[in-house]
Amino acid sequence: MGAWSGFAVTFRQMFRRRVTTSYPEEKRQKPVRFHGRHVLNRYPDGMEKCIGCELCAGVCPARCIYVRGRENPPGAPVGPGERYGYVYEINLLRCIFCGLCVEACPTEAITMTHLFEMSVTRRRDAMYTRDELLMDAEGTVPHPQPPGPLADLDELRRPDGWMRATSPSGRAAYEGVVAWTPIAGWGLPPAERGQSAPPAVEEGEG
Ligand code: SF4
Ligand code: SF4
Repeated sequence: MGAWSGFAVTFRQMFRRRVTTSYPEEKRQKPVRFHGRHVLNRYPDGMEKCIGCELCAGVCPARCIYVRGRENPPGAPVGPGERYGYVYEINLLRCIFCGLCVEACPTEAITMTHLFEMSVTRRRDAMYTRDELLMDAEGTVPHPQPPGPLADLDELRRPDGWMRATSPSGRAAYEGVVAWTPIAGWGLPPAERGQSAPPAVEEGEG
């Protein structure tokens, strides 16, 4: 009898909607706020956005970011501020893709993209340094997987949602308002839509 119950379960499943897909040929649309690999952004004039403040490293719960800042050379500044991040490393074997580094960054230098295919065969290849993270003037970065079905490099241009939870732009009242600066090679990303949370009532508001 037990065996027939098992067959009945299998038979019922045959008529249910399939939840699996034939990855990588068939890819699902990712949620707007999907957290994939990181990139370090530049301003449209090519200046680096990272100011080497180390806030991202300080907030990271997995302790997987290492940053060192350095004074900008007066004759040939790398960024618009006093300092820039001349060492920047993320150990992606430890990263839990929480996005807190993105939240903490005061200049929108570090962001996450929709690209998650980043398997490697050597541990050291999972340590992304400035070379792998910092985008060029066209807004692209080196990636371990070649372009193809396994790595849609266009996903590097899809940021992880633009309304940050801890900033005023995370309020529903700010839906549709672009709150981020333009990025080299990408221009101004569109504002995120679909915010469903009710607007927070701030202290002093009626
Ligand atoms: S996503 Fe989270 S765990 Fe990963 S580097 Fe950023 S803060 Fe650290
Ligand atoms: S990425 Fe942002 S938070 Fe991290 S060091 Fe650079 S400016 Fe500071």
